[in-house]
Amino acid sequence: MEYGSSVLIDRSGRKISYVRLSLTDRCDMRCRYCMAENMTFLPRADILTFEEIAAISSHFVARGVRRIRLTGGEPLVRRGAVQCASMIGKLLDHGLEELTLTTNGTFLAEHAAGLWDAGIRRINISLDTRDPERFHYITRQGSVEKVLQGIAVAQQLGFRIKINMVALKGLNDHEIPEMLQWCIAEGLHLSLIETMPLGIIDDDRLNRFVSLKLIMPILQERFPMVASTHRTGGPARYWQIVNSKSKLGLISPLSNNFCADCNRVRVSAEGKLYMCLGHEAHIDLRKALRTGDVAMLDMALDQAMGTKPPKHDFDLARPATDRHMNVTGG
Ligand code: SAM
Ligand code: SF4
Repeated sequence: MEYGSSVLIDRSGRKISYVRLSLTDRCDMRCRYCMAENMTFLPRADILTFEEIAAISSHFVARGVRRIRLTGGEPLVRRGAVQCASMIGKLLDHGLEELTLTTNGTFLAEHAAGLWDAGIRRINISLDTRDPERFHYITRQGSVEKVLQGIAVAQQLGFRIKINMVALKGLNDHEIPEMLQWCIAEGLHLSLIETMPLGIIDDDRLNRFVSLKLIMPILQERFPMVASTHRTGGPARYWQIVNSKSKLGLISPLSNNFCADCNRVRVSAEGKLYMCLGHEAHIDLRKALRTGDVAMLDMALDQAMGTKPPKHDFDLARPATDRHMNVTGG
């Protein structure tokens, strides 16, 4: 392949059109399935500046990327996150088709208007339970009231909202039908997620794992739904809930591998380009960018395409990588 010549195609022939950009690995919560209680975060001096994030985004768009999702850690804990979103949002009229955000919602109420002005129209908000005590237990430090307030403000502004709920045996699995009912009443979409073995945590992932294959028959019995061809560029497979505005998304990395049509790569807050959630393979984009030579960045991207693994191989008994999900985001 000629360097920088074209769109990004990996060694399995998959076109890469979607980038998830982590603004920070830090977070105001410590969700039990995501992190250990005591975490070491990147030194602030090591993370990309907003100018660097914007430059990398622009370069990805020049190479055919059409969707960028801002994530973390918690993207909104980084000071100036909205300003960074605005800088990337400028690409919306110049090749970028969609800029989205994944957030835990704590700081959404105060930033929602700025995010709208930046051009974001779709937000994924994590909400594993609506029960305040259970929420506090799962997140170790979160406040469900703040998240619900953030959702309400974002709804008023007109954002399309999808709730992300990680299914956890014995913690929130009994609440899934009720969560779907609530999403339907509120006009929100719901994505259920299987917990993935990424990084060492204090809890036992094996005991908490729930296969969505077991949850679906329970939901289908209660909620009439039809399989939908709707896709948002991510790994979710959707079902339209009949007579409602809501879709049910299933993200089943363990029970139903979706790697064959993976179109995604992830950039960590320090500028490492990870080719797959379940593998260590990465390329240092920050180093390439700081040479000041665009050709080096192109070369790094092309080199990365040659290293994207065909698929993840998750085994719940041990973490697929030492990296926690907060490094690369979801
Ligand atoms: N802090 C933001 C949030 O929670 O939405 C964005 C980053 S978070 C890493 C992105 C998504 O990944 C969240 O929906 C979270 O529930 C999910 N997640 C985190 N760790 C996970 C794991 N080990 N397995 C599956 N999903 C995970
Ligand atoms: Fe923070 Fe999101 Fe991880 Fe929870 S899932 S600890 S909110 S990064």
